[in-house]
Amino acid sequence: MEKWPLGVFASIDAGLGVKLEVAHELGVPTIQLHAPAKSTRTADNAQRFLDRLAGYGIRITCVFGGFEGESYADIPTVTETVGLVPPKTRAARTKEMKEIADFARLLGVDAVGLHLGFIPHDASDPLYKEVLAVTRDLCDHCQSQNQNVHLETGQEPADPLVQFIQDTQRNNLFINFDPANMILYGSGEPIEALEKVGKYVRSVHCKDGTWAANPGQEWGREVALGQGDVDMERYLRTLDKIGYHGPLTIEREIPQEPERQKAEIGKALALLTELKRKIG
Ligand code: MG
Repeated sequence: MEKWPLGVFASIDAGLGVKLEVAHELGVPTIQLHAPAKSTRTADNAQRFLDRLAGYGIRITCVFGGFEGESYADIPTVTETVGLVPPKTRAARTKEMKEIADFARLLGVDAVGLHLGFIPHDASDPLYKEVLAVTRDLCDHCQSQNQNVHLETGQEPADPLVQFIQDTQRNNLFINFDPANMILYGSGEPIEALEKVGKYVRSVHCKDGTWAANPGQEWGREVALGQGDVDMERYLRTLDKIGYHGPLTIEREIPQEPERQKAEIGKALALLTELKRKIG
């Protein structure tokens, strides 16, 4: 397989990332798919969708789950609303995440990703054991259909994230590394973190951002690729060093400005193409 095929984060209906037509117009060979709404996740739709992608020459490399009620408004709101950590929504969301994995199976995709939520950093916190249990449950469901689970980075610094993955004792749990999230959440210098979690990285986002004045308390700012504090050349060189040669999936979340979003992703594709040539 080609080293570092380019890709974008995309969705079929409403969802994060760009619309499928935009991915097609941008000419990328791969996408990560934000899972469509429950009513859309049928076998018939999966086939129709695969036919459409075949026409575009696009392959899906990972299906990402997201849930109703999640909000990324600010960091405390993320803690309360995102992923499988919040107790009130955990059971229903775990069930839904398994259904999303089943839909990914229909699409022939062997990796599902998600933001798990803020994992307590203190392993003696009872919540830590609950999050371990729910993660094992999801991993076991996915294992039964030969799928891996990729945790999106951001909420955890590298060391507690590696510790958590080891504590689950599951061999199909990996990482979707998002360097900008490390900056946006203030959870650590991204390149240093990437070197620490390297052996678990099975998919990545190419996203950029700038540090907040008070990292960890307020959001950093997401910016166009190459304009932020990640340092894309160093990022790609480090991916090379850890032996990651899978898809480079561009993520740019400015759905309110679709024209600008498409233009900036176009520039990001040019930047990554140039860096790929340079690094080889
Ligand atoms: Mg991301």
